[in-house]
Amino acid sequence: MKPEVLSPAGNLEKLKFAVDFGADAVYLGGKLFNLRAKAGNFTLEEMEEGINYAHEKGAKVYITLNAFARNDDFKGIERFIDEVKPLKPDAFIVSDLGVLKTVRERAPEIEVHISTQANTTNYRAVEVYRELGAKRVVLARELSIEEIREIKEKVPEVELEVFVHGAMCMAYSGRCLLSNYLSYRESNKGACSQSCRWKYYLVEETRPGEFFPIEEDETGTYIFNSKDLCALPLLPQLIEAGVDSLKIEGRVKSSYYVAITTSVYKRAVKLIKEKGISAFKEELPTLLEELKKVSHRPYTLGFLKREEEILQHYETSSYIREFKFLGVFKGGKWQVRNKVRLEEEVELFLPNVKTFKAKVKGIKVERKGREERVREANPNQVALIEFDRELPLQENAILRRKEKA
Ligand code: SF4
Repeated sequence: MKPEVLSPAGNLEKLKFAVDFGADAVYLGGKLFNLRAKAGNFTLEEMEEGINYAHEKGAKVYITLNAFARNDDFKGIERFIDEVKPLKPDAFIVSDLGVLKTVRERAPEIEVHISTQANTTNYRAVEVYRELGAKRVVLARELSIEEIREIKEKVPEVELEVFVHGAMCMAYSGRCLLSNYLSYRESNKGACSQSCRWKYYLVEETRPGEFFPIEEDETGTYIFNSKDLCALPLLPQLIEAGVDSLKIEGRVKSSYYVAITTSVYKRAVKLIKEKGISAFKEELPTLLEELKKVSHRPYTLGFLKREEEILQHYETSSYIREFKFLGVFKGGKWQVRNKVRLEEEVELFLPNVKTFKAKVKGIKVERKGREERVREANPNQVALIEFDRELPLQENAILRRKEKA
């Protein structure tokens, strides 16, 4: 179903969560040459397992190869392409023209997508990438829906991918040296320390060590501190503008984040395509509520629709985390991720974005081949859990607990 929902896969587990929760495609990086040095990333064996898993369930896999290469990098890049090619990924995502040329030469049968790192902001650039053999362009986050629509009208044969959810840079995506200077971690090599979200002071040059606060409120300053993107309310317009792929950011985020965001965007696309915009609008408040249940900063529509909205977040630089992920239901049992206790109030989340509240009334775990009743189940245990009411349990249901504010 178009547009596809494209989810982040920071590691093998997250890939499986994304696919199980409805992603049409996932993107991931190898241990080298991608932009998420801290995302865990995949060994070749894991990549093979991930690609096979996704393909069996009808999902595509795109491999990021999007760091800006230096001369010395090409030997490694060539080796990487040669090793990954036989695993049959569906595309390589590149940002550097040299890398693009190398991929086209060494793996002409594999699609090339142009990364958002290439900062494509106009149809002329998209035409150039088409001529260079690209199948898809991931547009810069800075474009409006109108600009996206115009690009699609002018170059309809190139697929357009647009970020719809997740963290944003205060610079053109990744084109920023704050992290490089302040923590020697290069944002264009995937190692950004998100220095834009630190606190800053003013220092007069003849008074080193004297820090003048530049307070926007009593808790400090947030001059570079972006809100998170959430384009869910704009989905009908994005689809109408001809967007082919809706991208969720967050390869360093949790499996829980991947599951919830993927389910929500997939449900929204289904509603729009199968039942129409009014059905989508009716369910929108519930879907937005779900997106508040993953770790996030206050949300913004970003640059997609410019209103009198402030994109900076001026209250705090920390994340809002309201819910704790307790476990996932697989093969008739709960795989526990965080402690589950007897008598606690919990919430069940189903992949079709339905939720149910309940109380834990019994917990059994396996010990030495026998089932044993316990008062709490711990992370990494496999448990049977009884609730105070009948719940429509199904594969991949998620159990979570609302955290106290
Ligand atoms: S420091 Fe902030 S603006 Fe700079 S690359 Fe990192 S996330 Fe983007």
